[in-house]
Amino acid sequence: VSTPEAKLNLLNYSRAELATLFKEWGEPAFRADQLFQWIHQRGIADFDEMTNLSKALRARLHDLATVTVPEIIVDQKSTDGTRKWLFRLDCGNSIETVFIPEGKRGTLCVSSQVGCALNCRFCSTGAQGFNRNLSTAEIIGQVWLAAREEQVTNVVMMGMGEPLLNFDNVVRAMDMMMDDFAYGLSKRRVTLSTAGVVPKMRDLMAVSSVSLAVSLHAPNDALRDEIVPINKKYNLKELLGVCRDYFSNESRRKVTFEYVMLDGVNDQPKHARELITVLQGIPAKVNLIPFNPFPGARYTCSPMERINAFREHLIKAGLNTIVRKTRGDDISAACGQLVGDFKDRTKRSARIKAAVGME
Ligand code: SF4
Repeated sequence: VSTPEAKLNLLNYSRAELATLFKEWGEPAFRADQLFQWIHQRGIADFDEMTNLSKALRARLHDLATVTVPEIIVDQKSTDGTRKWLFRLDCGNSIETVFIPEGKRGTLCVSSQVGCALNCRFCSTGAQGFNRNLSTAEIIGQVWLAAREEQVTNVVMMGMGEPLLNFDNVVRAMDMMMDDFAYGLSKRRVTLSTAGVVPKMRDLMAVSSVSLAVSLHAPNDALRDEIVPINKKYNLKELLGVCRDYFSNESRRKVTFEYVMLDGVNDQPKHARELITVLQGIPAKVNLIPFNPFPGARYTCSPMERINAFREHLIKAGLNTIVRKTRGDDISAACGQLVGDFKDRTKRSARIKAAVGME
């Protein structure tokens, strides 16, 4: 997020980093806690309103800092209550954030990159190419803006982009989501979804205990190479290996596997059987996602009877399986439909290489 006169954008700072900054300014650490609460818990961006900070500190903040969030350019509400914001970033780039209310739960689907380099074949974001990583401020700014308007109880890093390819900013933003002086979400209510960047999954395991969702979408390498091309770099064996380790480390939480239902591609009984075999021994939850077509998509959605039959097959084998409801269809807010608007500055092959070092 570009800030006026190159002031410090405080949304880029974790509470610990803010305390370090304040130490340099000769302020006690608890001032950082107070400022963090004003900004994140109360959604206040105007330093004048932060009445428990001294006048001198407020004046200094005025001179040197801002709280700058992406600008809202579209705010759409679906007939089912799903809400989608389009945010303008710099240079004509924009990103999308989606809020999905369901009973007492309010889930915010947050973007981590402008576009995506991984080019999963069922995903309209991937089809648009990659432009750049979001800053911490641009990631947490989506939560900041949404939390002022809606009751956000859960966050999924499942919007535009592969979050693990913007590791530092995503981890810092997720830590803020879970900080009791900010949004105070428990680790069970913050989920990172990855297409399977295996080394970064291991890095994540070492520094964070958020929940993990894996975009699986195919039960064998030949098919997954086609649907989720990063599989050519990190195959199923490696991916499922790290998923097993994720459960056996101290977090001991189930991994959720996402499986998009593509008509005639990955939805046959033999695929269900293969899936049961490869997931053996992993405490897994499987989400079957009806495919949401977008202009130019090469797939169509499996018929509902086939999706239900697939689900039955998995359930009989003891796999906790649900069919995810499609939400926000009428405003293109459903899974894999987030495209924003941006310039693809990379060529497709260069894009993938740059992101994952794929040959
Ligand atoms: S599904 Fe996720 S990782 Fe794959 S192209 Fe789309 S945004 Fe990127």
